[in-house]
Amino acid sequence: MKKLLSLVLMINLFVVYHSQAQQKPIFPKGEKSPNVNHVGDVWLTELSHADSVFTYSTSVAVSDPGARLNWHIHPGGQILIVTEGTGYYQEKGKDKRIIKTGDVIKCLPGVEHWHGATPKTGVTYIATSPTEKGKTIWLHKVTDAEYFGTK
Ligand code: MN
Repeated sequence: MKKLLSLVLMINLFVVYHSQAQQKPIFPKGEKSPNVNHVGDVWLTELSHADSVFTYSTSVAVSDPGARLNWHIHPGGQILIVTEGTGYYQEKGKDKRIIKTGDVIKCLPGVEHWHGATPKTGVTYIATSPTEKGKTIWLHKVTDAEYFGTK
């Protein structure tokens, strides 16, 4: 019986070890972004620059728990593809919503919004934005009431 228990324990350790080893991020974490348009720690890696053929930029953003971007607008819109973790997304006039691994969020051109991690969980997403209509317009910080509140 003891032998069986230790065998089961070893198998469990093996499974846990290997399932964790396979959870390596797909992309490098990138460079820590200076806290100009967000609070908390955010890392950014540009995966693809906009050019004359592909007129949109694509980046991966890693946000530590508590990190969130200021309110902002993408003149050409933005698609977010969540690859890891759980975070928040909110458009002006709407409730804040939870976003999680596998979610695809389409933010329409000109819509004021913010996105980031939750207070206790980090979030990673790929963000792609058309660049022809102009760069991101940064607005005010997300207030604590907005971030921690239910709305
Ligand atoms: Mn955005």
